[in-house]
Amino acid sequence: MARHRRVPDRVDRCAGTRWQSVMRFCAALLALLLATTSAAVDFDDSQGLAETLHAIEALKDSDPASGQQQARELLARAEAYGDDLIIARVQRVLALNLNVLGRNDEALALLDGVVESFARAGDTDNEALALRNRGVVLFDSDRLDQAIDSYLAALERFEAIGDEVEQAKTLSNIGNVFFELGDLAQAAHYHRRALGVFEEVGLTIGIAGAAINLGAALRSQHDHPDYPRLIEEAEVSYNRALGAFVELGNQRGEMMALGNLAGLAELREDHERAHELISQAFRTAEASGDHRSILTMGHRLIRTLHASERSEEAVELAERLIGLARETGAEHYLPSLLAVGAEVLADIGQHQRALEMVRESVELEQRQLRAETEVRLNEVLARYESERLQRENLQLRQAEELARIQADRQRLTVYAAIAVAVLLLIALGALISRMRLRERARAELNWAATHDPLTAALNRRGLREALDPQADNTLGLLLIDIDHFKQINDRHGHDAGDSVLIAVVDRLRSRLDPADLLVRWGGEEFLIVRPDSEGLDGFARQLVSHMAQAPVDVDGVALSVTLSAGAAVKRATEAFSSAVRRADQALMAAKRDGRNRFRAAAGLEAG
Ligand code: GH3
Ligand code: MG
Ligand code: MG
Repeated sequence: MARHRRVPDRVDRCAGTRWQSVMRFCAALLALLLATTSAAVDFDDSQGLAETLHAIEALKDSDPASGQQQARELLARAEAYGDDLIIARVQRVLALNLNVLGRNDEALALLDGVVESFARAGDTDNEALALRNRGVVLFDSDRLDQAIDSYLAALERFEAIGDEVEQAKTLSNIGNVFFELGDLAQAAHYHRRALGVFEEVGLTIGIAGAAINLGAALRSQHDHPDYPRLIEEAEVSYNRALGAFVELGNQRGEMMALGNLAGLAELREDHERAHELISQAFRTAEASGDHRSILTMGHRLIRTLHASERSEEAVELAERLIGLARETGAEHYLPSLLAVGAEVLADIGQHQRALEMVRESVELEQRQLRAETEVRLNEVLARYESERLQRENLQLRQAEELARIQADRQRLTVYAAIAVAVLLLIALGALISRMRLRERARAELNWAATHDPLTAALNRRGLREALDPQADNTLGLLLIDIDHFKQINDRHGHDAGDSVLIAVVDRLRSRLDPADLLVRWGGEEFLIVRPDSEGLDGFARQLVSHMAQAPVDVDGVALSVTLSAGAAVKRATEAFSSAVRRADQALMAAKRDGRNRFRAAAGLEAG
């Protein structure tokens, strides 16, 4: 059941939601749907549009639900079309249908916007119409003061554009509000003005209505100091209404005017005149053949017959009408007919029959009351049920909305968590890479501090650091010097000298053990430190001959390079510097002895 109700609800949401984009989307969607299901209105054809709007406006009197539906469909298309004035015109007829459906708050909200749209566009005709419509809705919502304001604003505009018929209608509207407010003098004043304008333009139906209203406003002012004069004017007015209704061939109106005139005669206690008027109204009712009119007027006729002491006729008429009511199933008329019949019978002494009628009248009344109560109860139950369904619907929608919001929030939380995690990872990566860089820079710095940049051999500081843990060990030392290196520089240039230095280191390194240390000791002097002093002589001899065996290639020039070497064994107790000095002395001995050779220092054990 709840599901079936959702379609109109959704349409309502389209019109009522504050989310304009959703609204526009709904409107566009609806317009798209409608374009395929029904003949499209051409908004450029003003005649066709006016006819369509007029037809929808007219639906408020025959089928307001369908009028409301059609207006909404047209509104969706007008919104898609995007012309503000057309939108306002459609909203106005939508509001009129909503008003008849009792949905006055929606109608008012629409009309407020409609009035503003027309005012902004300077469309006074439509602005005045909408103001008057708003007055009607305010009146129906019991907001009478506001209704008067709206009507007066409409009146001012109708006067400005010289639309007398609408002026007169608005004056009637204002008169009705004052009547409702109990300000009968003001009510009479406005109805009198309305009647005057209707007379001027010669609109008979308007004259009839305004005259009836004026009569009612006048005759209800019982406390007026000059009441008889008011009654006279009321009589003139009702007579004017009677004439207009006769002219229109409107029998119901005619009976109403006659009934009101009879009421005035009764006020003056002119029972004969009252009886004549009601007789005339009853004849009109009989001529119309409308049972309800016959029963209503007949009921009054029984009274006037009784009041003018024609009780026999009154009883006769009562029995006839009771029969008619039974025949036509017009049960509602029975209790009052029985009651008035009983009254007349009692008056003429037929108490038995009167009693029977009263009893039946009371029974019927009670039965009808029970039936009415049941109907009312069912109405209340139905309304309760419908409200419950609406509430459920609302709760369902709210729950959906809540779920959507929660899902959004969860998604947002997940996104936020992911973003935080990514940021953390990036920060961590940056930290690690910075640490690595710093580590590498430190390593590079450290390497640079402990190595000779040209040959990549250790420098003296590098040697010191490497030697530290084995300071008390026995070590084999070889001090090596390149022979006649100055000549290489002089003959081939400093760069060639550098290349030779690099080549010498490479060739020395190719013979070293992993544990051996190679140090650039000075310009073209290198120190080799071996943890193992065994076979130092043989090793030194090998190095010297290995160098001499093949020339060094420097940019395509083969240079023969020889080495002189001095060897010394550092004993555990000996200072490193002292051992180096002995190696240097051995080196000098090798130089003296003709170079390209090795000499061992005195006290060299291994050999
Ligand atoms: P000896 O055989 O007696 O050792 O003679 P020598 O020429 O090798 O010795 P001397 O001490 O007279 O000359 C050494 C030269 O080495 C002097 C200096 O300019 C050069 N030298 C020192 N360091 C470098 C260097 O890094 N690159 C180059 N190209 N030459 C250097
Ligand atoms: Mg030297
Ligand atoms: Mg030298």
